[in-house]
Amino acid sequence: MNEKILIIEDEEKIARFVELELSHEGYEVSKAHDGRDGLLLAEKEGWDLILLDVMLPGLSGMEILRRLRKVSDVPVIMLTAKDSVSDKVSGLDMGADDYITKPFAIEELLARIRAAFKRNRKAERRSSILSSGRLSLDRNSHLVTYDQTPIDLTKREFILLEVLLENRSIVLSRDTLLEKVWGYDYMGETNIVDVYIYYLRSKIDDKFGEKIIETVRGVGYMIK
Ligand code: CA
Repeated sequence: MNEKILIIEDEEKIARFVELELSHEGYEVSKAHDGRDGLLLAEKEGWDLILLDVMLPGLSGMEILRRLRKVSDVPVIMLTAKDSVSDKVSGLDMGADDYITKPFAIEELLARIRAAFKRNRKAERRSSILSSGRLSLDRNSHLVTYDQTPIDLTKREFILLEVLLENRSIVLSRDTLLEKVWGYDYMGETNIVDVYIYYLRSKIDDKFGEKIIETVRGVGYMIK
């Protein structure tokens, strides 16, 4: 599948040129020529990257970025005017991934696009799989395995294991686990944490004969 790129740029000459070059590179390209159309299109799902001009009629690039970031973390490269340091800084502050100054050489734009895709893929890999030794948890597929053997967990057991793996080698107190797994407004028994640790241990530690969840006496639990 080809990566889909949206160009939001009111200067039609630039937009057409970039569209041509990107299509030539094998990307699937769409264009918007003003801010409002741009935002509408940008908010639709399915873009792999957005090239966003700062100076746009209708709605500025900054405003589009601000609104877009509330609903999406799609990679965004800002197209800024020469010497506009403040645009670059506020663009990055607002969550742009990169910027390129106009006029730019197409090779530089292509390199920045490739770099953005690479960073994004790395981030996805990093955030999707959590593991400790032979135990692995995939946040996307919700699959937990030990040595490739699937482990069937309830939703709450999954979240508890996820929190422990996110904080590997950090001791988490019962209160912290209660907050993170059951939420601040949990009114039930605090020993529910111990009960769920017991469930996890019987499904993982006991079953596979490896001590994975450690008790730190008087403090809490952790996975190394
Ligand atoms: Ca412009």
